Amino acid sequence: MRYHNITHDDMLNGEGLRTVLWVAGCTHRCENCHNPITWDIEGGILFDDSAERELFGEGGKGYISGITFSGGDPLHPENREEITRLARLYKEKHPEKSIWLYTGFMWEEVSNLPVMQYVDVLVDGRFVDELKDPQLHWRGSSNQRIIDVKATLEKGEAVLYECEA
Ligand code: SF4
Repeated sequence: MRYHNITHDDMLNGEGLRTVLWVAGCTHRCENCHNPITWDIEGGILFDDSAERELFGEGGKGYISGITFSGGDPLHPENREEITRLARLYKEKHPEKSIWLYTGFMWEEVSNLPVMQYVDVLVDGRFVDELKDPQLHWRGSSNQRIIDVKATLEKGEAVLYECEA
């Protein structure tokens, strides 16, 4: 897997202060995407052991609420296996911290993926420029849903995450 950046103490991509991994690769091609440089699956740099240590090291800081996988699309078919491995390891090392994941896929398209057993909150759907609203917390357009994954899996239908913000 390749990635573009790891941002620290991020307040814009999920609840609290978070570590964000921006992966390479996205096939959705949303009009006016905020980050088209991330579309190329061959772009960015290799996600290596040093990057992995950085992610998990950040998770050890008490004030960090968790990790967010974004991009690009962490659920691009070529990223799924590695993101699943990282999510599993992150939960093993930091079970008290949350995992958020941003994807251009709809929940219904990805709900059966193994990674969902580790994800707490999924922000789903493509960015739709006509539905863009800067007032929204943690999503770019109003069609995107902030989904409480555990509650959704229990109920069998999408349950929206109750944001504290
Ligand atoms: S899913 Fe996200 S990264 Fe991919 S094209 Fe749409 S806005 Fe851009």
